[in-house]
Amino acid sequence: MTDLETNLSALEGRLTAELAGVADERALEELRVRYLGRSGEVTTIRRGIGALPPQERPNAGKVINAAVERMESALAVAVHRLGNAQLESQLSETIDVTLPGPPARTGSIHPIRRVMQDVGRYFTRLGFAVLQGPEIETDANNFDALNIPPDHPAREGLDSFYLRPDLVLRTHTSPMQVRAMRESGPPIAIIVPGKAYRRDAVDARHLYQFHQVEGLMIGSDIHFGHLKGILTGMMRELFGPNQEVRFRPSFFPFTEPSAEIDTTCPGCAGSGTRGDATCRTCGGSGWIEIGGSGMVHPNVLREVGYDPEKVAGWAFGCGLERFAMVRYEMNDIREFVENTPSFLEQTA
Ligand SMILES: [Zn+2]
Repeated sequence: MTDLETNLSALEGRLTAELAGVADERALEELRVRYLGRSGEVTTIRRGIGALPPQERPNAGKVINAAVERMESALAVAVHRLGNAQLESQLSETIDVTLPGPPARTGSIHPIRRVMQDVGRYFTRLGFAVLQGPEIETDANNFDALNIPPDHPAREGLDSFYLRPDLVLRTHTSPMQVRAMRESGPPIAIIVPGKAYRRDAVDARHLYQFHQVEGLMIGSDIHFGHLKGILTGMMRELFGPNQEVRFRPSFFPFTEPSAEIDTTCPGCAGSGTRGDATCRTCGGSGWIEIGGSGMVHPNVLREVGYDPEKVAGWAFGCGLERFAMVRYEMNDIREFVENTPSFLEQTA
């Protein structure tokens, strides 16, 4: 048994002993807060993960969560026992037909939705419009209009879900750039949060349905500096005031020049280490990748009837699952769709 397991098991033992002596709901709630509350004993143990021997750390979260689940069920059993005792004493007096039914579990906002709302709030404050678009897109909007040629691998049935030869489940939120630009002239400042689909095998890093947020700004004096400033602001909104953003050269068919976007790792504040170990969130680099970006390709502007000599603009696309995984320090993207109550309650 590791030290962590010994500590947890002692904690569970104490809780069980104390539960046996609990006689009313208030005492029960007091126990719950003391053990599982925000500043409770489990939180103290959780905070100590960084000080554990390195070989124990990778599993520590799982071990703690399992103990929390056991403690929650012990509490639930006690709630039930108290409820029964109370009910029996009431029933022995008179039958009260107005007794309430079992309490309903209240829901919470899904972590992806929460990240989406935070991003939306930031951009709305800057005057961006928030657009939604169809998840079934024409092949032309999803690929051709974005300068993705017919021989591009994304256009093969192996990588995308085709419904008909000319209709595809959008592989990114970028076709909304095309729709927005066709609908109105410049200037344009929009973001498009929404679902996208790719034929990826499901594993800890991939889902075939995921969420992106797309940003697009077009005008007569728009340049890369605006993009960096706005992305830096977005990262600070999501992860805190000390976030920085850097660009790395890359290639996307619909932007030129193109850049991958990195931000300082919120897990280690960019240092690459946590305690005396390598930061697991960023693998020690101090940076995490958050998406792709670039200046909108002149071909894309021409395609929607804009004059690349007169207007320019940037676009970016980021994965919302990525943001949420970093924010909630998760290792497995599948947790977002499994939706177990214990996971959702942790991120509430
Ligand atoms: Zn890190």
